[in-house]
Amino acid sequence: MAFPQDRPRRMRRTEALRALVRETTLAPDDLVWPLFAVPGQRVRNAVKSMPGVFQLSVDELVAEAQAGYEAGVRSVILFGVPEKKDAAGTEAYADDGIIPRAVRALKQKVPGLVVMTDVCMCEYTDHGHCGILRPSRAGVPEEAWRRAQGQPDEAAPKRAGGSGGPHPPELMVDNDLTLPLLAREAVAHARAGADIVAPSDMMDGRVAAIRKGLDESGFSDVPILSYAAKFAGAFYGPFRDAAESAPREGAGIPKDRKGYQMDPANAREALREVALDVAEGADMVMVKPAVPYLDIVRMVRERYEIPVAAYHVSGEYAMIKAAAQAGWIDEARVVLETLLCIRRAGADFVLTYCARDAARLLTGGRR
Ligand SMILES: [Zn+2]
Repeated sequence: MAFPQDRPRRMRRTEALRALVRETTLAPDDLVWPLFAVPGQRVRNAVKSMPGVFQLSVDELVAEAQAGYEAGVRSVILFGVPEKKDAAGTEAYADDGIIPRAVRALKQKVPGLVVMTDVCMCEYTDHGHCGILRPSRAGVPEEAWRRAQGQPDEAAPKRAGGSGGPHPPELMVDNDLTLPLLAREAVAHARAGADIVAPSDMMDGRVAAIRKGLDESGFSDVPILSYAAKFAGAFYGPFRDAAESAPREGAGIPKDRKGYQMDPANAREALREVALDVAEGADMVMVKPAVPYLDIVRMVRERYEIPVAAYHVSGEYAMIKAAAQAGWIDEARVVLETLLCIRRAGADFVLTYCARDAARLLTGGRR
């Protein structure tokens, strides 16, 4: 007599049997390695909250990417820390900015590498927000607004909340002022040789603006990976040390990104965000963070045919590293299990600071 309930166990008897029926695979090709570019030469600043992660000058970054490539990681995504920051994030779209310089060096030294670039303003603005700030009119009566405009000394954004006029204006990110700058930034990256541009700013309409900018500049073959569902939350803390991009404290400056990133409580909204980005021309979409949001990854996977990425973010990485350093978990096994589970949820590829280590584990150092 057959006992169907025995069947799963029968299929787990040997490693070869388990491999035969395995539903999900994890390979170095599924991984994208985030790297941080900083000005200078031979700079290798350890990021304290992310053991094993460094801010790298372009020469060091090329060497790091080369080592990753040799381990099997064939894609990187670049974040830049500029020479200087200003309110308009000027270095973000400069042709000789830190990212175009890094891209050109990588394309020359590691030609087989897929180079993605993060497209955003927060690493380049002195206030640390993902777009241009302007005073908000919401909640300010018409007359008070006009008075504030006529009295720049009392109501100038810089002094907002200080000695102030009758209605010190709160600052907010100006979505539409930011769009053309993001397009210019993407074009600067493409001109340097970027294979994929990845807007992470969460401004409305940015995918369309970037697509148009790229097409008009002759880069219609550069795909867009949009950070479509990027949740505001606490998992990005260590990244902001690495990219030096935390919102600065100051009068009127929004203290967080909840005005444009998503509420962790919302899943259906994530689908609406993805729908918009797909309609605007995103070639691939990303969910970020990864592990706490695997339900979102799964929902997006089921609803869309385009490639889905998940970003295993700095806080997720830091927690694994901290527990491993304390001797509480087996780091290698936890890393591989984590990445495999992100794939199982439906991600085609995973952006992770564990990329090179995971690739070495997966190939058993055979490379
Ligand atoms: Zn940003």
